[in-house]
Amino acid sequence: MKNNYIDFSRHFGSNGPNAYFSLCDEDYSSIVNRKKFVSKLGYNPKDLVISSQVHSNKIKLVDKPCSVEDFDGLISKSRSVVLSILVADCMPLFLYNPISKYFALIHSGWRGTDKNICQSAISKLINKGDNSNALLAIIGPSIGQCCFEVGEEVASRFDSSYSIKGKKDRMMLDLRGVLKDQLIRSGVKAYNIFLNKQCTYCESELFHSYRREGSSAGRMIAICGWN
Ligand SMILES: [Zn+2]
Repeated sequence: MKNNYIDFSRHFGSNGPNAYFSLCDEDYSSIVNRKKFVSKLGYNPKDLVISSQVHSNKIKLVDKPCSVEDFDGLISKSRSVVLSILVADCMPLFLYNPISKYFALIHSGWRGTDKNICQSAISKLINKGDNSNALLAIIGPSIGQCCFEVGEEVASRFDSSYSIKGKKDRMMLDLRGVLKDQLIRSGVKAYNIFLNKQCTYCESELFHSYRREGSSAGRMIAICGWN
């Protein structure tokens, strides 16, 4: 059977945590489906870390499995936790420092990106004695500039170089470009950033898309942890 996920683990090296991203075969906002998915990947579902996400820049450091409220970024150093976040168009950002062994999973939609959530996560790591120069980053599937139509009020929150003109008074925003540059400004080396270019809106066979399906859209799950 064809895999129902994308495996990004190789970008974290052979000793790093695994990094997975589901496809749209299920709606992973269901806890039952999430547990089934991580079991299939070889994890113990009891090791999951889950947060309700609110488009904030709040980051939680966790050292054991738990459910937390209102955090959009999770950081850990524990080999026995499995970080998870849900997305449907928003960017899933995986981080790993092969020296300190800290790893992180971040939900960065336009609101979180506007709040520079990646920098909040990296600052937290640096406060723990981490060095952002060593960080490896993966930006998973998300809505591309081809489909991310926004109004002036959203476009104007980011440098004009990230937008091109769309229909009428709409703008097409390259949110991935924003996030990549934020990572670089936070000290991550450009050659250590892997940017997946698949568009969740365009590729309807593979991905849920909030923009395409509306509020009933399912969610994909991003997973990071050792297994
Ligand atoms: Zn697209």
